[in-house]
Amino acid sequence: VKSIAVLTSGGDSQGMNAAVRAVVRSALYFDIEVYGVQRGYQGLLNDDLRPMDLRSVGDILQRGGTVLQTARCKEFLTAEGQQRGADVLRSRGIDGLVVIGGDGSYQGANKLSKLGIKTMGLPGTIDNDIPFTDSTIGFDTAVSIVVDAINKIRDTMSSHERASVVEVMGRHCGDIALYAGLASGAETIIVPEVPYDMKEVANRMKSNFAKGKRHSIVVVAEGAAKGVDVAREITNSCGLEPHVTVLGHIQRGGAPTAADRILASQLGDFAVHQLMAGESAKACGIISGKLVATDIDTVVNSKKPFNMDLYELAIRLSQ
Ligand code: ATP
Repeated sequence: VKSIAVLTSGGDSQGMNAAVRAVVRSALYFDIEVYGVQRGYQGLLNDDLRPMDLRSVGDILQRGGTVLQTARCKEFLTAEGQQRGADVLRSRGIDGLVVIGGDGSYQGANKLSKLGIKTMGLPGTIDNDIPFTDSTIGFDTAVSIVVDAINKIRDTMSSHERASVVEVMGRHCGDIALYAGLASGAETIIVPEVPYDMKEVANRMKSNFAKGKRHSIVVVAEGAAKGVDVAREITNSCGLEPHVTVLGHIQRGGAPTAADRILASQLGDFAVHQLMAGESAKACGIISGKLVATDIDTVVNSKKPFNMDLYELAIRLSQ
């Protein structure tokens, strides 16, 4: 490849900037020309591309969000839209594209590869819902934000001997709830992957208070239930009236953790190397410390396995 482009697509996540920086600086290091596409596939269709130099990605490593901005683009779902996207790239002499985003963005990259553009996907989403990588870019930061919030909630809960329900992000994947719940000593973790019985949750809460616990925290992934509904069911079952906190978009903002910056840097550089080796339609990830490139087809047709061991550990430790 002589010239590549990079875009961010779908929901943003902390560390996307670090990934963009890595792609740009690695490409330039190997004398590959590199363009930034503004606003994802929408910007591609609008031919909104600009050449990137070393300084264009200065001072962004530590920033949340994405300087390239992101978008969802309906037009790119059509065959005509995809063809136009490939034509825009080709008209500028660009033969490779790095797409930083989630599952849908990967599918877009796959379509472009079938039209002759070499593509690489990087997992940019806080949900950690992409298989064939241990972690997605932004996940570690989101978990840290939730843990920090629960610490604060816990301080005030124990002063008042109250129960609390904290609703976190995760539409299909309960990893934010699981990891943050384990790290913050939540009593109950409710995720889409594991069926739960509200009566049991309420009884556990009541008996723990009777045993002298001074606070009780339920972490629920938005894809499993709404925080207010969980609280209402607890009240109906056992009379306790938990406070509800919906953390919302603060989970997607703020400076990325060191772990996310390192992950993004490694993956961005790896994507450039894969393109240089002539690979295409691959999703980049890290599994057990090893950089891996998996066919996007395989990735989008698989479901991330849920870490049941960690879930059971959280239950054992939260009595
Ligand atoms: P998130 O995990 O944050 O939702 P995502 O990448 O899955 O991120 P989507 O909205 O699903 O977010 O996809 C982003 C964009 O990718 C879409 O707006 C669309 O332009 C493109 N896209 C999604 N699915 C496809 C597909 N099947 N074929 C081609 N392009 C697609």
